[in-house]
Amino acid sequence: MARNAAEALGATGVPSFTTELIAGNLRWDLLSPWPCSDPADDARADEAIALLGKVLRTVDPVTVDDTGKLPAELLADLRRHGLLAPGVPIADGGLGLTPSGVFRLVEAAARHTRAVSMTMAIEAAIGVGAYLPVLAEGPLRATVREALRAGALSGTADTEPSGAANRRRETVAVPTPDGTAYLVTGEKVYVGNAPIADLLWITATVRSPDRERVRTFLIRTDDPGVVVTPHEFMGLRGFPNGRITFTDVRVPADLVLVEEDDYEGRITPAITVMLSLGRLYLICAPALAIARTSLRLAGDFARTRMIDDRPLARYDAVRRSTADSLAEVFAIESVTEWCLLAGPVRGLNPLLEQNLAKNICSLDSWRTVDRTMSLLAAEGFETDRSRLARGMPAGSVDRLFRDARGLRISGGVDYLLDYWFSQMIVFAGARGTGPGAPAPDLRHDGLTPRNAEHLRGAAASTRALAVLCDEFAAEGDDGAAPADQQQRHIAIGATYRELAAMALCLARAQHLAAGGDETAQHLADVYCTAARRRIDDWWPQISRAAQPPYAAVSDEWIDHGRR
Ligand SMILES: Cc1cc2nc3c(=O)[nH]c(=O)nc-3n(C[C@H](O)[C@H](O)[C@H](O)COP(=O)(O)OP(=O)(O)OC[C@H]3O[C@@H](n4cnc5c(N)ncnc54)[C@H](O)[C@@H]3O)c2cc1C
Repeated sequence: MARNAAEALGATGVPSFTTELIAGNLRWDLLSPWPCSDPADDARADEAIALLGKVLRTVDPVTVDDTGKLPAELLADLRRHGLLAPGVPIADGGLGLTPSGVFRLVEAAARHTRAVSMTMAIEAAIGVGAYLPVLAEGPLRATVREALRAGALSGTADTEPSGAANRRRETVAVPTPDGTAYLVTGEKVYVGNAPIADLLWITATVRSPDRERVRTFLIRTDDPGVVVTPHEFMGLRGFPNGRITFTDVRVPADLVLVEEDDYEGRITPAITVMLSLGRLYLICAPALAIARTSLRLAGDFARTRMIDDRPLARYDAVRRSTADSLAEVFAIESVTEWCLLAGPVRGLNPLLEQNLAKNICSLDSWRTVDRTMSLLAAEGFETDRSRLARGMPAGSVDRLFRDARGLRISGGVDYLLDYWFSQMIVFAGARGTGPGAPAPDLRHDGLTPRNAEHLRGAAASTRALAVLCDEFAAEGDDGAAPADQQQRHIAIGATYRELAAMALCLARAQHLAAGGDETAQHLADVYCTAARRRIDDWWPQISRAAQPPYAAVSDEWIDHGRR
């Protein structure tokens, strides 16, 4: 997917902040003016959120978590109000919200019940409606529009038991002799919305004598040969997710997504654009909801718990922890705002920032909930069931913790995404061998001295990282890292996401400070201080610093059971 991101980016030819970052140039000028949403769009999203609030009034998140099921009538209610197709045009049965509106709606749902938000996000990100913009006029587009108007539920089935990280897909689609259809056979696992879906996009390998290509097919779940069974996760409980087997399922040839027929990869550039936006709904919206809720719980606890007659909130360690969590919420807000608005408002291409956002948001959210767990101590570790039994209100950290962990896996495991980013984006094309990009223009309009220093530090690291990457490329590292150099690429990918997050926090802080919100500067300062510490940790893994004998230790135990 990442390689496609590079290609999709190349196809648009519009400026991209992260492309410049990778070239060694922190283009601070591109981040200003900070993009703001249209008040009319916001008002329409507010209406949808109010509507959602009414629909969710009868949904109890604790019961959903306990039973692992959504209330029977809920999906029909959501569907009736268009809430399962918020981004779909009104003419096709949706609410016609902008991506920013869809994001806000999903985030609001996630603050109430994550399972509901996941179902909504799957529809918006990878359901039938999400593909509409990439479908040419024809039978497939007509089928999708008809399904949307009928309120069909859907999702995308890509992961297989052999592992999503594999390039190959073992599910096969065999053309019928008359060429009018394919017979699909195989198995998919962990598919969001599978148990409730009417339609699913599935990936399958089409073999011809000279080559194999993975193509996307639209199937109906009531087609003969389709069997769906539910999975259960430790978190996000109640989110319908399942395994699907296909045995000679007949798919008409005109329900194959044909986009750039010669394309060799599994996911085409146009679908990459769609998925990159979609992951903001699938991962970043619930990540923000979890971080905000964790922060609220931490605040409530720190305000009321007294230790030796002193409120917990007034202890140094707790102040730092609270400030770090506040800063991480600020960072998720900054990154997602940019990712959603930089395209439509500023005419920039935020595709790579959207790619980085998955890890930025899920990891920031994870750190926030983990910190809250530590703060609440045993109370944080206690389940809602136990709290309710002793007359306490529900609202434990337990559910947040379990749900947040899933966001680091769904859509790709975090370290692997960092690895792919370096391998397939940073090292995608020929890298320069010069001294690096010219020094960037860092003139700013009112950053505090500390934040101005963070900006200079980020720009210097950006430059140094590009020089190092150029050197590695000159030494023959083309991103196809041999097993013993993988960590270098993971660290490079991670450092780029830290640098991008820092820059976006600083730019939003500058914008908010200009409007009188000086706290934003402090939040950016706290975030950048932590991010720079993390970069300091990544750096030895990128540079040629001596490392412990990881491979020897691991291989000895894996191969011989010796340690
Ligand atoms: C809540 C949730 C919702 C989901 N929804 C959907 C959905 O709607 N549709 C769908 O198709 N799938 C879905 N998935 C599946 C999800 O996308 C995959 O679980 C995820 O991409 C990881 O793939 P995998 O579990 O198959 O692990 P694998 O890809 O098999 O990876 C196993 C381990 O190997 C590591 N690894 C892989 N390659 C390398 C490498 N080259 N170097 C080093 N380490 C490597 C991985 O990081 C991981 O730790 C969902 C999963 C969850 C948890």
